[in-house]
Amino acid sequence: MPLIEVSSTPVVLRLNRDLVRLIKRGDPWVYADALRDLPHAPAGTPAVLLDNRKGQAVARGFYDPRCPVALRICETDPELKLDDRWAERRLRGALDLRRGFSFDGPTNGFRLLNGEGDCVPGVVADVYGDTAVVKLDGEGPAGFWKIDELAEWLAREQNLPRIYERQKERGAAGRPLVGTTPAEPVSFREHGLEFTADVVRGQKTGFFLDQRDNRQLIRAWSRDATVLNVFSYTGGFSIAAGAGGATHVTSVDVAPAAIEAANAHWQRNGFPADQHTGVAADAFEFLAQASSEKRRWQVVVLDPPSFAPNRESVPKAKSAYQNVIEAGARVTARQGLLAVASCSSHIDLPMFLECCEEGISRARRRGTVINVGGQPTDHPTPLALPEFRYLKFVLLRLD
Ligand code: SAH
Repeated sequence: MPLIEVSSTPVVLRLNRDLVRLIKRGDPWVYADALRDLPHAPAGTPAVLLDNRKGQAVARGFYDPRCPVALRICETDPELKLDDRWAERRLRGALDLRRGFSFDGPTNGFRLLNGEGDCVPGVVADVYGDTAVVKLDGEGPAGFWKIDELAEWLAREQNLPRIYERQKERGAAGRPLVGTTPAEPVSFREHGLEFTADVVRGQKTGFFLDQRDNRQLIRAWSRDATVLNVFSYTGGFSIAAGAGGATHVTSVDVAPAAIEAANAHWQRNGFPADQHTGVAADAFEFLAQASSEKRRWQVVVLDPPSFAPNRESVPKAKSAYQNVIEAGARVTARQGLLAVASCSSHIDLPMFLECCEEGISRARRRGTVINVGGQPTDHPTPLALPEFRYLKFVLLRLD
């Protein structure tokens, strides 16, 4: 059975402007407004792209006339047909990049496929121990990739007994592709620490694997410190801080289930119960109250959800970041550390550093940048697609 849609004849699309150089440089997205017309075809239909001048073929990919990114490019050599050999080559390339991870090693929770970054447009696969979670980014990828066959291929190649599919839409029901639906959160390790991911009900695919390197950084800076982890989810940064020798860690998240999991993860790693406090509360309210009570922590981590889902929301998002950074700075001890993350692709690093500067100065503090981090090696991105390098993580010391 094929891994991709190969039965329909490719639809022919034509550029209305000269984007050939960008495409040859590796930009994998062609927006609908760059195409001369949008022929009627089902989402995921294979496509050949012609240039705007002589009508020469420049690339192959798949098409979704209803998506702003109407064409996702799979191959910039138009002579190469998109078939199973093509798909296997891409998939093997992705597996090859993960040679540093092993299922019996200290880190067996990692991203196996990162969509465009692995030249498998629109497919994400995260591994948690013996379970993988696959997610397709919309109807185009869902029409192009044969998800059941792809899951069987991955299960065979990686000896995975269980693969589960999550839907892009939040709250939409997933389904088992290989094996059965996990009855409870699945166990995995990150740098030797024990975690679980609720792959059925949890956020994203169950865990925020993209913060792995940044959690290690916090681990290294937590010795003998009191740590506040705001927007903690299931306590990733909290457990890292505990492992690094924090004297006490407070985790704050608005979702009670996340806090329950953070408490469970703390215990699971054998840390003393009285050195962790899980608080299910709104972050802004918690920070305001803590600040009015003059509470201070030596390390403060802020990892809010994306405040900028689109370009239009950037001004509002900047002010939301400034507010949360200001509130975080107000509860950071003298000479303490403040770590702030942004996962909004529409807020770039210079913009984010400006938000840090604004928020910190409003709290009447000054910051020294100690480190600027981002996504780990299992989240590769096309050089020509900056939108994919969404994660920014700034570690500062406040005076
Ligand atoms: N740092 C986490 C990931 C954080 S994701 C990790 O390493 O795993 C962002 C989290 O913010 C989510 O868990 C979400 O429930 C929480 N959140 C969203 N809005 C919030 C709010 N107003 N107050 C507190 N938490 C909030």
